[in-house]
Order: sequence, then C-alpha cells, then structure tokens
Amino acid sequence: PDMTPIATTNPATGRVEKTFDALTDEEVDRRVERAANAYPSFRMTPIAQRASWMNGAADILDREADEVAAMMTTEMGKTLKAAVAETQKCAKACRFYAAHAEEFLSDRRPADPDAVGARDAYVHYQPIGPVLAVMPWNFPLWQVIRFAAPALMAGNVGLLKHASNVPQTALYLEDLFRRAGFPEGAFQTLLIGSAKVERVLRDPRVKAATLTGSEPAGRSVAAIAGSEIKTTVLELGGSDPFVVMPSADIEAAARVATDSRCLNNGQSCISAKRFIVDIGCADEFERLFVANMAAKRVGDPMDDATDIGPLVNEDGRAEVEAQVADAVAKGARVLCGGERPDGPGWYYPPTVLADVTPEMRIYQEEVFGPVAALYRVRGVSKAVEIANATGFGLGSNAWTRDDIEQQRFVRELDAGQVFINGMVTSFPELPFGGTKRSGYGRELSAEGMHAFCNAKTVWVG
Ligand code: NAP
Repeated sequence: PDMTPIATTNPATGRVEKTFDALTDEEVDRRVERAANAYPSFRMTPIAQRASWMNGAADILDREADEVAAMMTTEMGKTLKAAVAETQKCAKACRFYAAHAEEFLSDRRPADPDAVGARDAYVHYQPIGPVLAVMPWNFPLWQVIRFAAPALMAGNVGLLKHASNVPQTALYLEDLFRRAGFPEGAFQTLLIGSAKVERVLRDPRVKAATLTGSEPAGRSVAAIAGSEIKTTVLELGGSDPFVVMPSADIEAAARVATDSRCLNNGQSCISAKRFIVDIGCADEFERLFVANMAAKRVGDPMDDATDIGPLVNEDGRAEVEAQVADAVAKGARVLCGGERPDGPGWYYPPTVLADVTPEMRIYQEEVFGPVAALYRVRGVSKAVEIANATGFGLGSNAWTRDDIEQQRFVRELDAGQVFINGMVTSFPELPFGGTKRSGYGRELSAEGMHAFCNAKTVWVG
C-alpha cells in the first residue's frame, strides 16, 4: 500500500510546508517514453558536449548553493552548513566526471591481441539506456548526483524516483540538468510513491536500476529487477564499526568518532555506529567521546551554531527511542543523552550507550540517529569479531598506529571500505559500496561509471 504522501514536512517544526500530487500512470508512461526517445541521440552526443553540460550543472549548484541548501534543510532537517557542503560536494563530483569520463570510457586493451588470435582486441564501454534511480532523503542531492553524474556522462538517461519527503529537491534536480543544457528526457523526476516503482521497473524501456535506501526497499527492487534480468546496484544500510586500539591518537579518534556518529544528525549510512575500544585505552576514549558527544549543540538546523538538527520525522525518532529503550531495558547504561527534549521538532540528543550485549536490538540493527554503542574488547581478534558480527558491511574505521594491526584490519574487516585513522566518507575518486546486506555494486570512480555500461568485448581478426 502506498501511504506516504508526497510532501515537504519541516522536521524542525512538524509543519507540512507543501504537498504534491503523485503522477498518474499515464504521466509516468509519457516520461518513460520521453527518456526512451531521448536516449538514442543522447548516447551519440560527444563526451565533450556532455562534459560541458555537466560543468554547467556544477556552476549552477555553486551559484545556488545557499538556496538549495535551505530547501534541503527545510525538507529533511540537516544543518544548513552541512547542506551547503553537500551542494558543493555535488558540484565537485559533476566536474570530476566531466573531466574524467573520456578516460573512464576509453577502450581498454587488456590482452595481447596475438594471444587471442586477433589483429586487435579490446573492451568498449557503452551506455545501456534509461536507468531508474530510487533514492533516499538523507543526502537528497548527493545520493542523486553520485548516480547521475557518471550515468549521464556515460550516455545513459536517468529517471529519478526520490524519497516522498524531498519532492522539492527532486524537482530541483530535474530542473538543474535541464537548465544546464541537457536535452529533454535526459534526466527526469517521477513524483511517485514506492508502490509505483514496480510498474516502472518492469517497463521494457527501463534497462537497469540503482537503489540507495533500506534493506526492505533494496530487497524488493532487486527481486523485481531479478525477475526481469535487469542489472541493479544496491546501497543499503550500515552499522559501521569504529575500532580504537591503544597506539592510536585517542583524542583525534574521539573527535572523529563524534563527528562520524553525528554526521547528518546521525542519519548517515556510513556513520560510525558501534565503537569497539581496546581495554588499554577504553577509559580515556570513553571519557573524551562522551564529553564530545554531550557538547554537541542540538537545535534549529538553520542556525549556524547548531551541530545537530532534528531527525527526519516522527517515526524516525520513535524508532531511535525504541532501540534505546530496548537496550536500556536489557541492561545498557546511558552515559549521555537518552531523553528527547520537549517542544516541537523531532529532536534527539547525542546519546552514548555502554554495556551493549548481543540480545539488544542495537547490537545488530542500524540506528538512524545520533546514538552510539560502546564495546570494550581485549585485542584485535576480539575487535574484529564484534566489528563483523552484523549483517551489514558498508564502511569500517580502525584507529591504530601499529603497522601489523593496520594490515589485519584492512584484511579482516568485512566491509566495502576500511578507513585507517580516519572517517569513512565518499570521494568521487574512490569506489563506494557495501558487502553483505549493505548491498552490492559500486558507485563513484571508474567503477561507478562502469556499473551502468555494457563492457563490450571487441575482437577484430
Ligand atoms: P527507504 O525507506 O528504503 O527509502 C529509500 C527510497 O526507496 C525512497 O525513495 C522510498 O520511497 C523507496 N522505497 C521504499 N520502499 C520501497 C519499496 N518497497 N520498493 C521500491 N521503493 C521503495 O530508506 P530511507 O528511510 O529513506 O533511508 C534510510 C536508509 O537508507 C538507511 O538504511 C540508510 O542506511 C540507507 N542509506 C544507504 C546509503 C548507502 O550509500 N549505502 C546511503 C544513504 C542511506 P518513499 O519515500 O516513497 O517510501
């Protein structure tokens, strides 16, 4: 059942700011038709032409960063300064793909032609057609750009089904690419609820799908795409470990741990969520981490002094509260936070829980809010065991100055990325994606572009 209204509801006030009608099936079909019609000529446009449009999109984003940021903050509650930074990051990604598409799409000659009995043999990258992107609200611009910049540069066309609570950002994105000069149909937004995704996905004109979001959404889209033999990339949830060993710079670790957990008001797939600390440094780390978490300022996301704005909606906050209550009922200790403030807006304070055990929901589940679970362990093997004791495998962080320990974490942490003495983040230059139930496939870098390409083998005798 498709219950979610398509609307902007300000998480700082709870007020519905703007509502939108979902497209009818006929309107959706017209847009899919437009995408399919645009594709044959769009894929033949020179890369340099697409790069010039993509750079144009970057210029618009830079120019309009303040307005776009305010719109995002109103729709989903991230702080204005974080929203400005997100917009700038998007501009940078557009420029990166404009600059590197030629190189990423150039023919690759992996084999000695003689060895395969040819005069020439190579891999030729071609676009595949209209791609459906189902995207979440938490980084409403970045999640879309990280798909759209490489996909459009490769010559694919995009259809965006954005989260129902960020319709203004969704419409802005369509408008952005149009104003940047991309031809009609190259990138369109479908204002539809999630129940209409299947119909689009089964449309033979739609060739592939990418989904960033929750596990149930990923499972559904992948199952439908599977039955149609269409390729998918899934970027799902995470419960990233953050391991701290005694040789680390504990103060830096505690600072970065706080920033990571509180990133995007605690609603990031790659936030560190489980803090696994060796007993040799556990007291010091805990003291600094709790002090940093408690010092974060929760409040109006439009205010420059605010570190943490509200959670996205009432259900989101209720879920975080339920996870904390479950842990406390089963014996977890609250070292800071743990109580919602009075008043309007879906605020929740930075919270640290100690004595977390496997029976508690937060041991296994992702917490989409600024709640940290602390674990004390003895040695690398135990740290790795707890780090890997979840169904997720998105990012991972390990803090140690010991070479041997670093190598062990790189080898043994079961995740799509491991950051040593740093904080998991994404860069256009590096691939991004998960293992286990965090999904499959990669976005960003050349890998992200090739995800929606036909890597065609060419053999010339
Ligand atoms: P969500 O409920 O799964 O929504 C994501 C998108 O999927 C929305 O557009 C949603 O549309 C749609 N959707 C929901 N159920 C669907 C279904 N059964 N079939 C087709 N589409 C469906 O996730 P969310 O609450 O917005 O986002 C939070 C989750 O995303 C977290 O688990 C987070 O870790 C994950 N995430 C992962 C990454 C990553 O890179 N791995 C990045 C960011 C977020 P409606 O809004 O209309 O329901």
